Amino acid sequence: MNTPHYPLYVNGEWTDCADHSTLTDPATGEPVATVARGTTEHVDRAVAAAAAAHADGFWRRTPPGRRARIIRAVADALERRQEELAVLQSRENGATIRTSRVLHLGLSIAHLRYFADLAESYAFEIPGPDMHPFPSTGILRREPLGVVAAIVPFNLPLTVTALKVGPALAAGNAVVLKPDEHTPLLALELAREFEAAGLPRGVLNVVTGDGVPVGAHLSGHPGVRKTAFTGSTEVGKAILRQSADTVRRVTLELGGKGANIVLPDADLDLAVDGALYAVMANNGQACEAGSRLLVPRERAAGFVSALAARAASLRVGDPLDPATDLGPVITREQRDLILARVEEARADGAAVVCGGGVPEGERFGTGNWIEPTVVAGVASDSRIAREEVFGPVLTVLVYDSVEEAVALANDTAYGLSAGVWGRDEARALDVARRIDAGMVFVNDWHVTPTAYPFGGMKQSGLGREGGPDALDAYTESKFISVDRSGGPADHAAFALVLGS
Ligand code: NAD
Repeated sequence: MNTPHYPLYVNGEWTDCADHSTLTDPATGEPVATVARGTTEHVDRAVAAAAAAHADGFWRRTPPGRRARIIRAVADALERRQEELAVLQSRENGATIRTSRVLHLGLSIAHLRYFADLAESYAFEIPGPDMHPFPSTGILRREPLGVVAAIVPFNLPLTVTALKVGPALAAGNAVVLKPDEHTPLLALELAREFEAAGLPRGVLNVVTGDGVPVGAHLSGHPGVRKTAFTGSTEVGKAILRQSADTVRRVTLELGGKGANIVLPDADLDLAVDGALYAVMANNGQACEAGSRLLVPRERAAGFVSALAARAASLRVGDPLDPATDLGPVITREQRDLILARVEEARADGAAVVCGGGVPEGERFGTGNWIEPTVVAGVASDSRIAREEVFGPVLTVLVYDSVEEAVALANDTAYGLSAGVWGRDEARALDVARRIDAGMVFVNDWHVTPTAYPFGGMKQSGLGREGGPDALDAYTESKFISVDRSGGPADHAAFALVLGS
């Protein structure tokens, strides 16, 4: 089979570069596609094209209902191509086909439809409240920002892109999108569908290439008014620093170390199943993963042995086989880092009760495979309990009281997600309210509908994506006052100062 080639997309043109990179299937190491490797010059061209598109005003003055129709047409096109694109996503980043269908494609389509609906109902311009003591009449406006840079990670390439490009375009901005260097294909397919749906040239640009220089140049570019970033906390901090000189708007969706609290009255089978779903979904590469399981000491032994048995029964293998539960991680380098972290925990005295290595068998000789892994007897100050591992690795800690469980859950630099398992809903909700995290799932996990704000507290990020006010993050607030009194221009100010 021929390996397809993808150019990048700037100013409505598919443009090739002198340099290409080859994407390889994380499951087999075989080539999936070659992609143009953009440079800082492509970033400059893309920002200039987006700025020109914004300046000509066509898109931002397009009625919101018409913008919504274009976004909906793209959602429809993705839905028509859902199976083909799910396979492409699985081959590109190793997600299991069930995950690609539902989380990568299905949720992205839902995101786009939600933002199209929002565009239609959003108050872009409304009469303001009374301006007393000023005699003027007020108008409240939300205006698009201008050029938005969207920088996205490898783990949810399309879903995260839809969470940024959807609201940015719905609000009338122009976008320069920088996908991750390992997973740019769905972003390019998305651009193809926006082009087919009639999005004006320059309004959406996709520059493929490495984090440095492409992402770094984009996040410091003076022509950009906002960076919407999803990725690691380390790079997020660099983006924040790079944004200071231009005082641009920034939203950051960063890493996590989600605590998953099993309350003493939890159903063992449901909680064991849920704990594995929380951490293993998307091959252990979800920012909101529940990677720290907190269990009551008196139930720990039973939980750990049930977890080990259930984890060992997960099917690891071909991502395109619908029976597969767990595929590979993104790169060999990442696999080795994860395995080294597990070895470090073992050396520190933790018990690796399931997995901890590469699965046995010929097919696992190539690709980036890791067994589903459960590490018990972990101290709360150990590295594996504190830092994001970003792989199929569950760490289990014990607690003696619910107070202690809450304290352990909050004893982290992160604050993205958490979970609580228990039969008594009032008690579970009480615990959920005490956890410092942007999202808390009771008796479930990965519940991330577009209508609810997605994002984290503390070092998990800045701002939220999705939710009913999602377009606020892609618009500036502005008011216009109109003085219809016919009086002198300084009337209001003098009246105020003189108290008359
Ligand atoms: P990463 O930070 O390495 O890369 C993310 C993106 O930033 C990529 O496009 C990369 O090319 C680019 N980049 C790298 N260096 C850059 C720089 N100096 N300036 C500008 N851009 C740069 O992250 P990753 O490894 O691809 O993704 C995994 C991380 O993303 C995990 O920490 C995960 O928790 C996080 N994540 C968070 C969310 C969320 O919503 N909170 C969602 C998904 C992933």
